Amino acid sequence: MELLEERIRRDGVVKSEGVLKVDSFLNHQLDIDLFDAMGEEFKRLFADAPITKILTIEASGIGIACVVARHFGVPVVFAKKAQSINLDGEMFTTRIESFTHGRVYDVIVSKKFLNADDHVLIIDDFLANGCALNGLIELVGEAGATVEGIGIAIEKGFQPGGDDLRERGYRLESLAIVERMDPETGEIAFR
Ligand code: 5GP
Repeated sequence: MELLEERIRRDGVVKSEGVLKVDSFLNHQLDIDLFDAMGEEFKRLFADAPITKILTIEASGIGIACVVARHFGVPVVFAKKAQSINLDGEMFTTRIESFTHGRVYDVIVSKKFLNADDHVLIIDDFLANGCALNGLIELVGEAGATVEGIGIAIEKGFQPGGDDLRERGYRLESLAIVERMDPETGEIAFR
């Protein structure tokens, strides 16, 4: 998506260790016109899919997911990072290793909000190694629901998550795929 790539080139900051900072429009200050254009694009890409729910993970996926959901006319459910898991059987649970913080979180979704009839579009801001998405896919599986597709704002194509998910047959659409980025020069190249 040209608009997003231009914005990443203009305002993205390349950090060391494969991290791209996009705090001025995606992760801290949020550009809602840009989010709206992304929502429209996801709707076009998944127009034939019978989506009943958008699933994301707190915190940074929620803003995008909400705007995307407006285009599909369906609710958003976000997986919550839990301090401790209450094993009362009311929750679907999994564990996710955070790319940016390096620690492992328990994440939960209430059984009230995801069920076997749901056709889910998973939305997130970034795709790196795929840990967050694999956790979300697992939660959908626990519910007996169907993953119709995965929509990502920025995939880092030099990290293995995206290619792994495509090989496993998931319908994955990333609006911008960063192929290379150089922390020395700040240069960013797209696939
Ligand atoms: P993964 O689970 O695919 O390894 O990493 C995806 C998650 O880590 C995303 O939900 C995102 O919040 C965070 N993340 C991964 N790489 C980056 C990055 O380069 N920049 C930012 N801002 N977040 C990232």
